[in-house]
Amino acid sequence: MTAYDQNNIFARILRGEIPCKKVYEDDHALAFHDINPQAPIHVLVIPKGPYVSMADFTANAPDDLTLGFFRAVGKVAADLELTEPGYRILANHGPDSHQEVPHLHIHIFGGKRLGPMLVRA
Ligand code: AMP
Repeated sequence: MTAYDQNNIFARILRGEIPCKKVYEDDHALAFHDINPQAPIHVLVIPKGPYVSMADFTANAPDDLTLGFFRAVGKVAADLELTEPGYRILANHGPDSHQEVPHLHIHIFGGKRLGPMLVRA
């Protein structure tokens, strides 16, 4: 698995070196608006730990961080009042998915009726 890059952009956001439009923060997670939104609401939730991707996180993160992170994703969606109208979550892992930032992030999309899950190739 790729080694974690301590200077990836989300690591720098976590260290406070780069600003973000913060939505939520707790001991386990930070959520902020995506800089290039793909839906009326497009928020990213990242764990507070050096994990490249979903594979790295689910294999190596401690239980309290794993639980806290996934609870934070649900809480952020609820706080954004997306639970009832609905929302989509997505996490890209690796080259085939076009993962751009090598720090695990879950996208939350909402605010309109979302289209098909994937555009057909
Ligand atoms: P992915 O392709 O899943 O790695 O998605 C990376 C996401 O990070 C993209 O949707 C980008 O728009 C977003 N992004 C990159 N840099 C920033 C930043 N500084 N603040 C907020 N979102 C960012």
